[in-house]
Amino acid sequence: MSEQDANKERLELALEAAGLDLWENDLVTGEVICKTSKVFTELGYGEEESLSFMDDVFKIVHPEDIPLIKTAINNHLRGIATQYRCEFRVLSKSGAWVWYANYGKIMDRDENNSGRRFIGVTFNIDDRKRNEEMLAVRGQVWRTLVENSPDTIARYDRECRRIYVNLALSTLTEGGEKVLLGKKPSEFPGSHDYVDYEAKIQEVFETGRDIEFELNIKSRTGKELCNHIRLTAEHDSSGSIVTVMGVGRDISELNIQRQKINEMAFYDSLTGLPNRRLLIDRLQHTLASSTRSSLHNALIFIDLDNFKTLNDTLGHDIGDLLLKQTAQRLTACMRQEDTVARMGGDEFVIILENLSNHIQEAEFQVETINKKILTILNQPYQLANHNRHITPSIGIVIFSGNQFSIDELMKRADIAMYQAKKAGRNTIRFFDLDMQTAIENRSSLEESIKHALSRQQFELYYQPQVNSTGRIVGAEVLLRWQHPVHGMILPDDFIPIAEETGLIIPIGLQVMKSVCRQLKIWGNGPLKDNLHLSVNISACQFQQEDFVKKIINVFESVDINPARITLEITESMVLGNISETIKKMQALKKKGIKFAMDDFGTGHSSLSSLKKLPLDQIKIDQSFIHDIPENNDAAVIVQTIIAMGNNLGMEVIAEGVETTAQKDFLIQHQCVNFQGYLFGNPMPVNEFERVFKEQDFKW
Ligand code: C2E
Ligand code: CA
Ligand code: CA
Repeated sequence: MSEQDANKERLELALEAAGLDLWENDLVTGEVICKTSKVFTELGYGEEESLSFMDDVFKIVHPEDIPLIKTAINNHLRGIATQYRCEFRVLSKSGAWVWYANYGKIMDRDENNSGRRFIGVTFNIDDRKRNEEMLAVRGQVWRTLVENSPDTIARYDRECRRIYVNLALSTLTEGGEKVLLGKKPSEFPGSHDYVDYEAKIQEVFETGRDIEFELNIKSRTGKELCNHIRLTAEHDSSGSIVTVMGVGRDISELNIQRQKINEMAFYDSLTGLPNRRLLIDRLQHTLASSTRSSLHNALIFIDLDNFKTLNDTLGHDIGDLLLKQTAQRLTACMRQEDTVARMGGDEFVIILENLSNHIQEAEFQVETINKKILTILNQPYQLANHNRHITPSIGIVIFSGNQFSIDELMKRADIAMYQAKKAGRNTIRFFDLDMQTAIENRSSLEESIKHALSRQQFELYYQPQVNSTGRIVGAEVLLRWQHPVHGMILPDDFIPIAEETGLIIPIGLQVMKSVCRQLKIWGNGPLKDNLHLSVNISACQFQQEDFVKKIINVFESVDINPARITLEITESMVLGNISETIKKMQALKKKGIKFAMDDFGTGHSSLSSLKKLPLDQIKIDQSFIHDIPENNDAAVIVQTIIAMGNNLGMEVIAEGVETTAQKDFLIQHQCVNFQGYLFGNPMPVNEFERVFKEQDFKW
């Protein structure tokens, strides 16, 4: 092959490789000298069609582009453009418009300029054109979005200087674009958070990963705003990071809502203190961090003494005031890092963290703090126009590490608090294991009492009450528990627990029913008429709202004369709400029921409030009877009580009479009713019936 041919072949291959279609026109003759049909084949046309288009290519050129092509050619012909360059669309066989470009030039055919040729190439630029179109659309969308976005948008260069800010950001900022562009965030007056901001921009430059965070800023009007910022890397076509875009969204409103929801879920609405949920959450943290630090912590349960009585007597509004003030006092005497929470009701819980790692020292620290709590809660409370003194019972458990579960810790603090109550209230108790054993016994006792109730293990004993002639006029009904294993259990060993657990209510009802049934039986026999039965009533029974109704229901359903029943109440019942007590007593008295004040002389109720009560009888407490006649103080008290009862027109009965000396002293001072071992122990019903009948023989 000659050198010329080889060059020609090389040229053809190069054109082929570059995807170029060569053409040449003779400008003098207008004749098409060279035209390949590559374009037409590419567009999907057959040979015949290609030939026809070669004659008149404008047949398939987009009508809008034809004038452009012509202008471009003319401009070149007239020497305005040194080269002919033009981009246009051509219709493909499938009906789509495909972009092509023509590059060409007029050249002299030979040295003497005798002929001019117009020579050039056509090539497909469809991909590039589509890309450009897309980018143009995208750019437009981006501009519209960014420019009008309510979010603040800034673009940062490698030195963290802003090279773009949108409208939202420039209007937010005093001085607008001018003070923002070319500056770093740290040069923005106001927040020190901005230094951190720059570090974050740098981090995005380094890692290419998005960073999100919240930033507190001040608007030009001075308003505090919270912005959620997202920093995103922006890449160039080669993939390297050129800028970082920061988009800020004002989430102040959202934050306020978030905070509200948070408050509702984790804070007590009355006192504003953390609630049970948050407390448990904090306790979890305490357990975790104390495992690491080995420092001691304390969980403190605080329960206000007699809160229920205050709530019932003065109303819930006053109760709420007390709780609020208690919350304030507790918060005031705690350190910032301690948690004071309200568990509900009148129960407050405190977590003391990071105490000493020596247990004795930690105990000492806790005791000191709790003495402070005790003192501060003992200050009188001004509750609207009521001045009240309220005391707390405090239970404490000290712990370190996560040896115990949260449930166990709460249980232990609760047990300790319960012990503080038992120890007479207004005091502090640390948890110890003996307490737990006692509590466990107690709860098994509670179960046994329930069991006893359903298995009818309770029995009534009757202790005679006699008059000055020694004749039995009635009996006090005393409860006995016939335990299948432990034998007979006396009331002092189970009544207090029955009272605490509320089991005394069904027990009391059962006693009342048995008493009525017994009276009904006697109603038909020789024990008729004048025999009275005295029944002990616990404070919590009496305080039930429907107490009166329940009692009336019992004797009406059994159909006995209520005048044969005396209810024994104690002074503690009167301490609560005296007018309510009187109302209940009067309702029952209307039906004929009588009332006795039991254990008289041991309570703290004032004489004036006692005088208001519609009592029929007072029972001198056995502790005074025990000491007469030898003990002068007791003798004086007994005499005074008798005189007072007689003055008020109430019957006086002495209980616990064991000796004739006691009986004689009492008779001498005009007390003519007695109860005690001297006349008979409490006894089962058949024995009581026998004793009663035998006395008829005697008399
Ligand atoms: P209380 O009402 O003061 O009952 C009198 C207690 O003194 C009874 O003890 C009785 O056995 C005892 N006693 C009677 N005579 C003498 C005596 O001469 N000397 C001495 N040292 N003691 C005497 P008991 O039966 O063990 O009852 C204890 C307490 O249990 C009662 O004290 C009462 O408060 C309560 N209780 C008993 N039965 C019931 C009941 O059915 N319901 C309620 N709510 N409480 C009851
Ligand atoms: Ca009694
Ligand atoms: Ca008594």
